[in-house]
Amino acid sequence: MYGIGIVKGLRTTMKHFIRTYTVDWNFSDKLTEENLLERQSLKSAAGIISVNYPDEKLPMPERFRFVPFLVMNDPAPGQKAGDDWCTSCGICAKVCPPQCIWIERGKLPNGRPKPQPEQFYIDIDICMNCGYCSEFCPFDAIKMDHDYELASYDRSSAHIHDKERLSKPISYWRAIAPERAAGEEAIRTAEEEAKAAKKAARGKK
Ligand code: SF4
Ligand code: SF4
Repeated sequence: MYGIGIVKGLRTTMKHFIRTYTVDWNFSDKLTEENLLERQSLKSAAGIISVNYPDEKLPMPERFRFVPFLVMNDPAPGQKAGDDWCTSCGICAKVCPPQCIWIERGKLPNGRPKPQPEQFYIDIDICMNCGYCSEFCPFDAIKMDHDYELASYDRSSAHIHDKERLSKPISYWRAIAPERAAGEEAIRTAEEEAKAAKKAARGKK
């Protein structure tokens, strides 16, 4: 019979519409971060879900990615910035599809290149958030940020992020992506141990 499919579709739409309100009653107290996570889970997510942004914000999943940031060590007490992890190798700039990374390598007093960027710029209006730079960096020195609130009235300079703006301590990465940061740390430790073992074995010969 014609029209059965339409009736079924309307019934599903109506069910979701009604569940919007029943789900809200369950969480009517407050939309705390914990409640929001549960509300979005497969167990209870139903209906039309919206939040009162910017007063309420949805928690970002670990794999969420926006524009990149540079990793540095946590600053020592009394210091503003820690040591950069970036060695200025330039791989991220080479693989960046829209070519929005610009790096100026530092120089040692004897004129030789320093494995550290003097300047590092990303044009975030051009960045397409692909994450290639982060995937290809051999030093885990560039990561994709969760901070998506970057709108500004100044298009000329505010959207070209320099090294100072891009640099964030490793503790920030551990806070926004704890599982990934722990996994990367385990790999780095294993690699360092393997290198040390190789060196020790060579020394014995
Ligand atoms: S690939 Fe990594 S280490 Fe190399 S320049 Fe880019 S951020 Fe720095
Ligand atoms: S996320 Fe993609 S587009 Fe943006 S800087 Fe990295 S490689 Fe370039």
